[in-house]
Amino acid sequence: MLRTHTCGELRITHVGQTVTLTGWVQRQRDKGSILWIDLRDRYGITQLFFEEGSTPAALMQAAKAVGREYVIQAKGVVAERLSKNDKLPTGDIEIKVTELVVLNTAKTPPFTIEDNTDGGDELRMKYRYLDLRRNPVRESLQLRHKMAQQTRTYLDSQNFIEVETPVLIKSTPEGARDFVVPSRINNGEFYALPQSPQTFKQLLMVSGFDRYYQIVKCFRDEDLRADRQPEFTQIDCEMSFITQEDILSTFEGLIRHLFKTVKNIDMPSVPRMTYDEAMKLYGSDKPDTRFEMKFVEIKELTGGKNFPVFDSAEMVVGICAKGCAEYTRKQLDELTEYVKRPQVGAKGLVYVQCKADGSFKSSVDKFYSADDLKTWAAKFNAQPGDLLLILSGETNTVRKQLNELRLLMGEKLGLRDKNKFSALWVIDFPLLEWDDETKRYHAMHHPFTSPKPDDIKLLDTRPGDVRANAYDMVINGTEVGGGSIRIHDRETQSMMFNHLGFTPEEAKKQFGFLLDAFEFGAPPHGGIAFGFDRLCSIFGGADSIRDFIAFPKNNSGRDVMIDSPSTISAEQLKELGIKVS
Ligand code: ASP
Repeated sequence: MLRTHTCGELRITHVGQTVTLTGWVQRQRDKGSILWIDLRDRYGITQLFFEEGSTPAALMQAAKAVGREYVIQAKGVVAERLSKNDKLPTGDIEIKVTELVVLNTAKTPPFTIEDNTDGGDELRMKYRYLDLRRNPVRESLQLRHKMAQQTRTYLDSQNFIEVETPVLIKSTPEGARDFVVPSRINNGEFYALPQSPQTFKQLLMVSGFDRYYQIVKCFRDEDLRADRQPEFTQIDCEMSFITQEDILSTFEGLIRHLFKTVKNIDMPSVPRMTYDEAMKLYGSDKPDTRFEMKFVEIKELTGGKNFPVFDSAEMVVGICAKGCAEYTRKQLDELTEYVKRPQVGAKGLVYVQCKADGSFKSSVDKFYSADDLKTWAAKFNAQPGDLLLILSGETNTVRKQLNELRLLMGEKLGLRDKNKFSALWVIDFPLLEWDDETKRYHAMHHPFTSPKPDDIKLLDTRPGDVRANAYDMVINGTEVGGGSIRIHDRETQSMMFNHLGFTPEEAKKQFGFLLDAFEFGAPPHGGIAFGFDRLCSIFGGADSIRDFIAFPKNNSGRDVMIDSPSTISAEQLKELGIKVS
């Protein structure tokens, strides 16, 4: 080894020992007759010390010559520091250097490699290998490593086995487009990269594996959205001979294990809420339950007063923002502007200020008396000092709009603390979802999800009302995982394909292998997959998943470091049998 210790290791107890360290020059401070170098490696920073007189002149010269990010090896004696640095674990000591070897020089890095960097996103991505030297990014990847380790530990303890499934496959329907890979040997034919290992994990259940998991790359060619990666990682799991209850408790166990072992947080048992309830109380199937501010519907209190906006609305619904009654005109206008933005799409916002003296002031004073407003306030359980924010319109639309406003108010009131965690199971999702573009029902989760037995009878008459044995886990308003109990017989699966608009031929062509497998003794089974990158970013208290991925792509799906995607040669295209016009 080129070193005896790491840069994060030495303490006061090592004083007097001769050691050799290696690492990168984070910083060099040259005071003429005294010179310090902060030497950095993955484990920390140790201060090297050189002093005219005690340090030989040639060595002093060599130390002055090193630059930022040089890779060096330094041998010396551990000494107690005169002025200690309590911010560094190694801050009590320094190394009085006796030998210095430059292992490699370095060009001046394009941005500062310190906790706070001056590098913009693109630059950091272009030189990601330098960015990865920075503590916050390195720590994010270490957290990811720990999460993966603990995931394996937990699932192993529950008898799951990790099985690798292929990457060159055929389309799997998770609702996105496939990335495809042309086959040279089978000209004109293509593999698809898995959007998830869904069909394979179900086949593993038919094989009797009983409990499978895999920390696995998935690929989805979706439209670009901030913080979406075309390739991402899932903790993918499947179990046989279970009910939905078993899945929920097993994977709640996983999440609680991760919180305990990675963050030392005792997460309480995860509450459950049906999809319908979530939409009614929060206007979202992934509510942020770090704070309450539940929706209150007041349509029945608003009629008969000739306020056309409310009278014509299917739904009148609001939230109570605690302690915001004294919002200024300007602040209220800003909220109105916010809900009117095209991304939210409300026509306007009604507010009621519940003043500290018990009076009310509202934007609809013309229509509603103080007594009316008092009954509203009572329904909201509002106290003097609170502010009611009310929207109206078509039920589903207005709920979605109010969800945005609720999240904004949560943010403003500091209720969305990144170091606080609130998990929730959302259950009983609808099986099907209407798609306006194709004018058809689509599987909300995927076509292998089993309908609730009681609801199957509604499939023909009220398909939108059929509920599925499908569930999501939500943490802090982000969907971190989702899964379902599967269909495990050919007949039901064929019926489902039929409802989803597949002809029997299409179903056979695309999923014949699965339908066939279901005729050879498929056990009842179900599973779940967690978005691993996202889960890591939530544990890390970060907004973006990027720093939890070693080499991420940018928002246009590009890897700017290796410059990919890129064109390929005419020769390669020809070999693959691809004609480009
Ligand atoms: N394959 C699903 C997904 O990727 C998860 C599951 O149903 O297990 O979302």
